[in-house]
Amino acid sequence: MEISVTLTQNYKQKPQGADIPFGVYTTDHMFLMNYSTDKGWHDARIVPYAPFQMDPACMVLHYAQEIFEGMKAYRDAEGKIRLFRPEENFKRMNNSCERMSIPAVDVDFCVKATKQLVELEKDWVPSAPNTSLYIRPFIFATDNHIGVHASHTYQFAIILSPVGPYYATGLAPVSIMIEEEDVRAVRGGTGFTKCGGNYAASLRAGERAEQKGFSQVLWLDGVEQKYIEEVGSMNVLFKINGTIVTPALNGSILPGITRKSLLQILRDKGYKVEERRISVDELISAAKDGSLEEAWGSGTAAVVSPIGSLYFKGETYEVSGGKIGPVTQELYDTLTGIQWGKIADPYGWSQVVC
Ligand SMILES: *Cc1c(COP(=O)(O)O)cnc(C)c1O
Repeated sequence: MEISVTLTQNYKQKPQGADIPFGVYTTDHMFLMNYSTDKGWHDARIVPYAPFQMDPACMVLHYAQEIFEGMKAYRDAEGKIRLFRPEENFKRMNNSCERMSIPAVDVDFCVKATKQLVELEKDWVPSAPNTSLYIRPFIFATDNHIGVHASHTYQFAIILSPVGPYYATGLAPVSIMIEEEDVRAVRGGTGFTKCGGNYAASLRAGERAEQKGFSQVLWLDGVEQKYIEEVGSMNVLFKINGTIVTPALNGSILPGITRKSLLQILRDKGYKVEERRISVDELISAAKDGSLEEAWGSGTAAVVSPIGSLYFKGETYEVSGGKIGPVTQELYDTLTGIQWGKIADPYGWSQVVC
């Protein structure tokens, strides 16, 4: 499929410096394509960034048939622009599509479209340390119909947003509340997909945790509310008695590309890694007897997010002395080193775009 290009007539002002707030700025252009039953995915185009026109009966507004992805472009020391494992994002997008009855996309074509858009917008990739260009591909149902069924037409889009470092003051440990009321995902549900509805359903618990002075919630499974699943919208990893332990992918956990990459790095560094069920009781007794050595979240936005304390049933348990642990720091340095092209990449994960 050819990608047509229409350039903007009105170039925007770019944010300067390192202090770019997350998700506020968007670039001059976006990538679009459309799906219809008769034509499949068609009309691939890069066009000036602009609002969508939407009929009030547009199905996504009512039934949330929508999925998205998130990745970043990084500027290295030589000024080259790099992507990190973009194929993984579009493979995961197709897993989300399948669950949500949205037609699949061509992974290689989407990577190509992403690279072409990023290259066109390369001046938008900031250069201050730990800044990047966030890439947001998404698909939503566009049939205008007030009735529950899978849409016959879809909009695919990729928009770009320059972002500053996730933690302005460095890797700050966060305080976490173990959530006992709301659940994020259930067996047979959509937990493994990046569908908008998952995030809407997670907002209330996050807000309540914030009101109580915590940064995020630790989610328990939706069946027994007994096993650890994720932290906020990140995967969660622990170091217990020298072993790295993380919840196994069970369908209600999002298969993070950061998680997968960290597990590979850890195994290659010689750590013992276990992907298995972890009960909240096991976690709390490890916190009590001191064998819980480190805990951290993982995701594209923050890379790693050290957990400084866990709150459960009226008690607060400090983790790693409330500081970032050595393994968490080592992982941050290794993964960001690969992403920004600062250290050798034995995996071929970092791809130079231009
Ligand atoms: C995106 C996401 C993650 C992290 O995935 P990455 O590919 O590492 O960015 C983890 N959990 C949830 C719920 C997510 O939405």
